[in-house]
Amino acid sequence: MKNLGFGMMRLPLLDREDPKSVDMEQVCQMVDTFLSRGFTYFDTAYMYHGFRSENVVREALVKRHPRDTFLLASKLPSMFLKEEGDQERIFAEQLEKCGVDYFDYYLIHNLGTKNYETAERFGSFAFVSELKRQGKVRKMGFSFHDSAEVLDKILSEHPEVDFVQIQLNYLDWESDTIQSRLCHEVCLKHGKPVIVMEPVKGGTLAKLPERVSALLSAAHPDWSAPSWAIRFAASCENVFMVLSGMSDMEQLLDNTGYMADFRPLSEGERALLGDAARMILEDIAVACTGCRYCVDGCPKQIDIPQYFTLYNRAKQADGEELQELKKAYAQLGEHSGKASDCIACGQCVRACPQHIRIVAALREVAKTLG
Ligand code: SF4
Ligand code: SF4
Repeated sequence: MKNLGFGMMRLPLLDREDPKSVDMEQVCQMVDTFLSRGFTYFDTAYMYHGFRSENVVREALVKRHPRDTFLLASKLPSMFLKEEGDQERIFAEQLEKCGVDYFDYYLIHNLGTKNYETAERFGSFAFVSELKRQGKVRKMGFSFHDSAEVLDKILSEHPEVDFVQIQLNYLDWESDTIQSRLCHEVCLKHGKPVIVMEPVKGGTLAKLPERVSALLSAAHPDWSAPSWAIRFAASCENVFMVLSGMSDMEQLLDNTGYMADFRPLSEGERALLGDAARMILEDIAVACTGCRYCVDGCPKQIDIPQYFTLYNRAKQADGEELQELKKAYAQLGEHSGKASDCIACGQCVRACPQHIRIVAALREVAKTLG
């Protein structure tokens, strides 16, 4: 199995404002190209693309390719479990939406302290183990967004999982909040194979500050910025799959090109990425990945990630570019809640896997761009 997976959470859209408006024609072409280049792993989840991603998988992949030519992963949304029977209902719905009768990989989605409590209350590990026994799930795991300490606790209490999916990238490797290195070490300690999500940190490592690009280009002029990030993740011990949320054919051709014949990074190349990470951290104001987990529950309908995108650009801009960003900020406020509308209810902070101090950051956004 090749170690690059197609993440179906940032697919090309017909309308940039509407996450449900997936460009099916382009996705079908991307799926065909991905498979024709020998890659087989597809990753979806219940609520990606406004709950449409699993339907897209059925139309673009399942209906058009024999079931034994690809591996499909989906996830039990721990954050949506409210009452008895929800797990059974959601799993049945997922099989139907994807048009399959089993998942190759099935994960309890987005575990951290709070969602782990929910998963325990609903007996989610036993539920997925039973699905595995019935052949409806081939491998069980969970995706994880919390500290290494919490990960250690979960793996100690649930040694039955087959694998773990963690956030791992060279920018978060030494981070105090994401703790990529420490979480990776916990997986190794428990002997669990690792799937990597966010290797490019939601696109942050695809568009690098100029001085970082220059540093990396000097070592390998022909390597793209995202290729450095994906190679870093794939080079880590016991990582058997790296997910990339590919948004167009160009990204897919780039990714599948260098991953077709993957060679792990050398020590020198890894050290260079350590330098790059330090330089990027000096430049980024808010390390938002654009996952949008915070958006749905906001009582003021504030498009939080869009504001952070503008803000990060504004921190690097001046003159005319800054004026353009202020205009874009005003326009965004016409379609969504304004950054200054935030009532500090804290819903988004609890939902954010990056542990961003969203309320304070939105205040800064309003001050800078308002
Ligand atoms: S804290 Fe502010 S941005 Fe976050 S959900 Fe509440 S109102 Fe929305
Ligand atoms: S603020 Fe956090 S939850 Fe919201 S999009 Fe950014 S990373 Fe995701």
